[in-house]
Amino acid sequence: MRCPFCGTTKDRVVDSRMSKEAVTIRRRRECVNCKKRFTTYEEIEDVTYVVVKKDKRREPFDRHKLFAGLKRACEKRPVGIVQLQEIVNDVEHLLHSKPDKEITTSEIGEFVIDELRALDQVAYVRFASVYRDFKSLDQFLAELTNLLQIERQ
Ligand SMILES: [Zn+2]
Repeated sequence: MRCPFCGTTKDRVVDSRMSKEAVTIRRRRECVNCKKRFTTYEEIEDVTYVVVKKDKRREPFDRHKLFAGLKRACEKRPVGIVQLQEIVNDVEHLLHSKPDKEITTSEIGEFVIDELRALDQVAYVRFASVYRDFKSLDQFLAELTNLLQIERQ
C-alpha cells in the first residue's frame, strides 16, 4: 500500500480486524519510511451465482425469487415450506458445483419441474406451464396428457 503521507510503498500491518458484518477487513498500517499510520479497508469478494436467461442476458441468482415462484405454484397445495426451501437449496448446490457458477433458466426450470413432479402434480403443471413458456393451450394440454400417461403407468 502506498503511504498517503510520503508515497513509500513499504508498510507493516499493525492491526487487522473484521467488520461487524464480516464483509470488510480494516487494517491499520504503519509506513516503514515516515512511521505515520493509516487505515485501509479490504472488501471480501463474494461469489455471485449467475443465471443466464433465454435471451442470453445474465442476472444474479436470486433464491428469494425462485422461492416466491415455487410458493406461487404450490398455493393451496399440500407442499410444505421446508420442502420448497430444500428445492431452492438443491438448486444452489447445483450452481455451486458448476465451475463457472452459471446456470441457465431452463436448467433451473427443468430441475425444479422434476422435483415438483415428485412432490405434487398440480404444482408441477403450474410451474411447468410458466417455465416451459407455454405459448398455447394446446401445449398446456399436451403436457397434461403427458402427465396423465405417467400416472397410468
Ligand atoms: Zn510514509
